[in-house]
Amino acid sequence: MRIYTHAACLKHSGGIGHPESPARLAAVLDGLRGAGLRGVEWCEAPPATRAQLRLAHAESLLERVLDTPIHGSLQIDADTAMNEDSPEAAQRAAGGVCAAIDAVLHGDCTRAFCAVRPPGHHATADTAMGFCLFNSIAVGAAHAIARHGLQRVAIVDFDVHHGNGTQDIFEHDGRVLYLSTHQRNIYPGTGLPWERGVGNVLNVALPEGSGGDAFRAAYTHTLLPELDAFRPQLLLISAGFDAHRLDPLAGLNLDADDYAWVTRELVALAQRHARGRVVSALEGGYSLTALRDCSLAHVRALLD
Ligand SMILES: [Zn+2]
Repeated sequence: MRIYTHAACLKHSGGIGHPESPARLAAVLDGLRGAGLRGVEWCEAPPATRAQLRLAHAESLLERVLDTPIHGSLQIDADTAMNEDSPEAAQRAAGGVCAAIDAVLHGDCTRAFCAVRPPGHHATADTAMGFCLFNSIAVGAAHAIARHGLQRVAIVDFDVHHGNGTQDIFEHDGRVLYLSTHQRNIYPGTGLPWERGVGNVLNVALPEGSGGDAFRAAYTHTLLPELDAFRPQLLLISAGFDAHRLDPLAGLNLDADDYAWVTRELVALAQRHARGRVVSALEGGYSLTALRDCSLAHVRALLD
């Protein structure tokens, strides 16, 4: 498998003390590099082209993120800001996902993990928000359809927050199935069970305090059967690790084992329908310890 990353992703900062910090990615990379994983090829994430970004985003958002002069920092919303390195980081986060998709669809590898930041799943077609500038996984899904002609792409989002941006971008496009597990009644407030798009959106909102049993039951009884029925040609993962019990921003109680379990289930599903092809991209996760452990457990399960 391949791991895509880039040094620019370590330089983006939303300000001193911001929870979505460069230290997050450093922890992920430390864990992965320190584990001495066999069968991993490390690759540089290329920048997404403007044409790729436009597949999921309005020109106005490209101009805001890529063309606005930044002197020190640029505030996007109450909790999202950019520094001089942010445009390149955002472009390489999305470009890494596109390159990983090209690699699995060309048969260069079967699975890939994009160790990138900023995260992406809150960015809508025209709005950067919630620590996210471009919606990398959505750009990747749109690229898989536009460039490779896929007809069925599934996105599974197990970040503790609902991926409102991903849902916004695809809720009218039946070629993409968007499935999310997240914590009920926290940011961004979307992801209610009756939000179904054109039948291509499925949200499971777990109550605060839910642990691995509830999480696994949601996949076993609800999400995995929906995925099986959809028969995705490519499986994408919005891999946020902020549902871990140590996370300071949320209140679910998952462990690294739960992330390993769900990853194995998704790999098995991809083997049934998608020739094993899975591309995963880092989203949230704000406990550095949990982030290191969970991303390693996730990548180990992708490797199996
Ligand atoms: Zn999150």
